[in-house]
Amino acid sequence: MKVSQLAFKPLKNPPANADTINHALLVQAGFVRQLMAGVYTYTPLGLRVLNKLRNVIRKQMDAIGGQEILMPLLHPQANWQITGGWDSIDVLFKINSRTGKQYALGQSHEEVVTPLAKEIIQSYRDLPLALYQIHWKFRDELRAKSGILRGREFEMKDMYSFHETPQDFERFYQEVKQAYLRAYQAIDLIAKVTEASGGSFTDKISYEFMVLTDAGEDDIYYCPSCEFCVNSEIAKQKPGDSCPKCNQAKLKAAKASEVGNVFDLGQKYAQDFDITYTTQAGDQARPFMGCYGWGTTRTMGVLVEKSHDDQGIIWPKQAAPFAVQLVSLQGGETAAQKLYQQLQQQNIDVLWDDRDESAGAKFADADLIGCPVRLVVSAKTKDKVEWKKRTQKNSKLFTPNQVFKKLQGK
Ligand code: ATP
Ligand code: MG
Repeated sequence: MKVSQLAFKPLKNPPANADTINHALLVQAGFVRQLMAGVYTYTPLGLRVLNKLRNVIRKQMDAIGGQEILMPLLHPQANWQITGGWDSIDVLFKINSRTGKQYALGQSHEEVVTPLAKEIIQSYRDLPLALYQIHWKFRDELRAKSGILRGREFEMKDMYSFHETPQDFERFYQEVKQAYLRAYQAIDLIAKVTEASGGSFTDKISYEFMVLTDAGEDDIYYCPSCEFCVNSEIAKQKPGDSCPKCNQAKLKAAKASEVGNVFDLGQKYAQDFDITYTTQAGDQARPFMGCYGWGTTRTMGVLVEKSHDDQGIIWPKQAAPFAVQLVSLQGGETAAQKLYQQLQQQNIDVLWDDRDESAGAKFADADLIGCPVRLVVSAKTKDKVEWKKRTQKNSKLFTPNQVFKKLQGK
């Protein structure tokens, strides 16, 4: 893609109403546009990042046997009345139809996935079952803020699993936890696993995946020397207490953003929608259920909060909109054209700043957008290419072939 043709180009200044770094940088660099508080458009650059994140998480969900589906966002009122959510969930958006009927906008999808599973789960042979989607959610959040960290419309990967026994659920729960940790690692995020209370319908423990950031809304206590971490809301400990796990250090308090969670739903939804199946012994039983959320759009915002400098965003390789930003300066146009084609032929994602702008302006925009590598060709670089990582100050000259090899990780 060429910057000259990019529909949303980097802006000179951040938006005046930005309350967080992700809001300021994502708008200024041209990844999102705000329609209203908590509701955003993803531009071509932003959508590329979101697609990368979707694929990182999709790969991990597929690897543990999740099957991807796409469920409706418009839900019948009846399903939400069956579970009690219609009256008890304050963030549920309710819609009045001109026909007199009422609908809900999906704020989560237990009310849709459980009746679907009822159709599938007839016998013990149909279990375990794990269905997931990567789709939008609507929530009437009182305070939609912090850029894309808290939206009224946001995207989530939500998976729902069904099991014969609590033990089998526990096994899968652990697998999902490991899959999540692999996915966070792939995008260079360190997520602390906290234990928290299990939400509205169960007294069971759940896991939350927390990334330390001042832009986050959760308060956690963690041990700097081991993995112990708790949400302050349920904590028996307080900051300064000796770590109950390793006893090696004192607990610290920090702000964090919840990027994912896993919940034990027990038999709540199986009861509500009356799912039974035939066991191996020939009896009728209800499945046990779990759900596993991952905020994809929030993760994009958290990445920016965690990884930026005064010049702009620093995307990890696996989430970057393009692998390289190619900058052509005076006298380098022909070489840039050739390099651009060669990079594309080798399936290396490249954004070419082909505009008639000063070197300073182009470098500033490359830093703002934050692709992992910047390549420069000019009259000065002759048959070489200047290579600079976004995270480094100094550049080096390489031949085009060396550049291709480096970008392919050879
Ligand atoms: P929070 O406590 O932050 O409101 P939650 O407990 O309501 O989160 P879930 O309903 O389990 O979260 O949603 C799963 C994931 O979806 C969360 O871990 C988070 O990453 C993301 N998420 C939840 N609410 C929002 C929101 N309003 N905007 C963006 N992402 C969200
Ligand atoms: Mg919430």
